[in-house]
Amino acid sequence: TTDITERRELADERERLLLREREQVRRLRELDRLKDELMAMVSHELRSPIGVIRAYAEMLREAPDLPEEHAAFLEVIDRKSEHLQRLVDDLLDLARLEDGRMAVEVRTVWLTRLIHQAVEDHRAAAEAKGIALTAELPHYLHVRADPVRLRQVMDNLLSNAIKYTPGGGAVAVTAVPPDDDGGGSPPDGGGPPRMAAVTVADNGIGIPPEQYEHLFSRFFRASSGRAAGIKGTGLGLAITKAIVSAHGGTITAAPREGGGTAFTVRLPAG
Ligand code: ADP
Repeated sequence: TTDITERRELADERERLLLREREQVRRLRELDRLKDELMAMVSHELRSPIGVIRAYAEMLREAPDLPEEHAAFLEVIDRKSEHLQRLVDDLLDLARLEDGRMAVEVRTVWLTRLIHQAVEDHRAAAEAKGIALTAELPHYLHVRADPVRLRQVMDNLLSNAIKYTPGGGAVAVTAVPPDDDGGGSPPDGGGPPRMAAVTVADNGIGIPPEQYEHLFSRFFRASSGRAAGIKGTGLGLAITKAIVSAHGGTITAAPREGGGTAFTVRLPAG
């Protein structure tokens, strides 16, 4: 009987631990939600004062006989408040994406054309650094996506690739239809959607292997980027991932042989 009693006590103890663990998980989730809510509220409240600061700075800049020194001060106010505004906008975007308030309006998008347009819009920035920017894409490739959001994804990946690649480097965009992506042919009547894949690869400064797992977390910045003195907020990839997830897609990052990084986005083919 002692044996049975002991076993029962053990089972009770295990049950108690399990319940406590569940309660802790519940509390952490609640805290996480409150943190998101606070972040969204603060961002929202910061928006209009920043707008007012920018508007008055702009008005002062147009004042007649502005001493040169004061014009320089205003320039700093303008630059810093613009940075603040971008930060706040990014945080709001993220909050909206994460609680599903940002609607993604999915339709069939000609991915090839969207990528070519994004690439052309980054060409000047690449050329200014002496970076070769290329795109090798099948002529017809379509995905189910919100074109505005998808453009944001491409812009983030391209601007990062250019930003984190030293002059003289190369950034290459490639895309493949579902059949070339190891997806096989679609099962009849449903099954997981077939995915098209877009890769933005660079031969830039790369990311230390142990930091890949944090790459898509808010505010995370890899030590390589910080060491190179490159500025950033660590929000772009978190937003990018949230957008891709809202489309039922995935995003992954991998080191490239010989240095550099490759980001691959997979989206339901159209
Ligand atoms: P930001 O560039 O504003 O810091 P992101 O969220 O876009 O923020 O990226 C997070 C971090 O990931 C960056 O700070 C940088 O360290 C790293 N990173 C992103 N893209 C690349 C890239 N193509 N090559 C090397 N590091 C990158």
